[in-house]
Amino acid sequence: MSVNKESAVIGDTIDLLDLPVIGAFFRWQHSRMFMQSILLVVAIIMVLHGLFGPQLAPRNLSSLLTWVHYRGILVILLLVGGNFFCMACPFMLPRELARKFTKPVKNWPTWLRNKWLSIGLFVTILFSYEYFDLWGSPWWTAWLIITYFAAALLVDVFFKKASFCKYVCPIGQFNFISSTVSPFEIKVRDHAICADCETYDCIKGTRDPENQWDIVQRGCELALFQPRKVGNMDCTFCLDCIHACPHDNVGISTRSPGAELWSDKRRSGIGRFANRNDISILALIFVFGALLNAFGMVSSVYALQNWMAGVMNTTSELPVLGTLFFVMLVVEPIILLGLTAFTMRTWTGAQEKLTPIVMRYAFALVPFGFGLWVAHYSFHLLTGIWTFVPVVQSMMMDIGLPIFGEPMWRLTGISVGLVYPLELGFLSLGFFGSLLVTYRISEKNYYDRRWKAFIPWAVLLLILFCAAIWLLNQPMEMRGTFLGG
Ligand code: SF4
Ligand code: SF4
Repeated sequence: MSVNKESAVIGDTIDLLDLPVIGAFFRWQHSRMFMQSILLVVAIIMVLHGLFGPQLAPRNLSSLLTWVHYRGILVILLLVGGNFFCMACPFMLPRELARKFTKPVKNWPTWLRNKWLSIGLFVTILFSYEYFDLWGSPWWTAWLIITYFAAALLVDVFFKKASFCKYVCPIGQFNFISSTVSPFEIKVRDHAICADCETYDCIKGTRDPENQWDIVQRGCELALFQPRKVGNMDCTFCLDCIHACPHDNVGISTRSPGAELWSDKRRSGIGRFANRNDISILALIFVFGALLNAFGMVSSVYALQNWMAGVMNTTSELPVLGTLFFVMLVVEPIILLGLTAFTMRTWTGAQEKLTPIVMRYAFALVPFGFGLWVAHYSFHLLTGIWTFVPVVQSMMMDIGLPIFGEPMWRLTGISVGLVYPLELGFLSLGFFGSLLVTYRISEKNYYDRRWKAFIPWAVLLLILFCAAIWLLNQPMEMRGTFLGG
């Protein structure tokens, strides 16, 4: 392994590790486990309440916290910080415990070392959410959480490294793609120090000086070698590299959000984005999934589904929903992206096939998609932010410990009217972010014809932006809270 000595010292950035209190916390060896333990306790309470508590979704912590609070907090953390959910992920704790007793011996199969499996699981979760009305079922939500714990444990007990996070977990993939526009990144502080490094503990791990077979601190289990790591893709913010580096040369630093989307540098543990069609498709599913997921909550979807059921002459929801998913996640992107790429190619005179053009510009749509996810999920979070208080009070009464008093069912959240401008703000931020990435990709690949390359994609973004604004203006179901009643 050799490292380029020419890279500059990273300057003018804020490093969370240098801040008082927060820095000390992240440097603490057990900070991750501390956060995971808190979320594990919350997850256990949610599962128990989901299985044994009231089966009315707004009165149950399992469905309420999962579908209203967790998703909203997740996207806001990604927007203002980074992948802090993966950092505190409770699903990893049972696997950590299991690995104290048994060491995995198998390597993850080569043919599965990509994002195809996790893309399939991501679509499955989006589909199940609509088909089984997961937001309305505490019991099924509890089983979803249990399944998640079991899957993470099963995969990582048999397979080495962080196979579940890198190749299986659909939440992780959502976080990886979202964190490409986050303002913080775990990265090397001074590349010159890496150039003189002889141990590469950040990737290999730190060995016990008494017994060279013993690893006392793991290196990166996601195969991201710090000096060659580019951006947040695949980084779980697990802090292992920070604890492993003997030169204190890894920080949690600010950077230009989204800049990694137009970079085509070779990325450690990933390769070039240009060679990773699976990651491009993941980005597209992320973007069109945002539109689909928001569309699933507006009242017009029911009228459309009824019409489709009539045309298909069926009373079953499965073929109707399946068709809707196929149209919105496959047919619509193929038509829109194909037409845009074709127009761009004709106008610029580029001698390329359409597929590589689409795969390249897929990353330009990510900020817009993320803006829509944030607008959508923050709407549910903010309009129902206090709804957990009466549910906790009621749960305590149910178990015979009324220490928090009578449930205050009137507590809800911020009014819809106040949240709407915020939603528009998030969406606009994503739209302008996407325009910027589109311009930078055009400039990089078609410098002398960059405006001809840029304009067709900007038009596509404008169409998607208008569609998203229309969606936000539709009456939206207040899933999981009494506001929807
Ligand atoms: S262990 Fe530290 S100094 Fe060495 S290569 Fe990794 S980050 Fe750089
Ligand atoms: S060890 Fe790897 S996954 Fe963990 S924070 Fe460092 S680079 Fe990210």
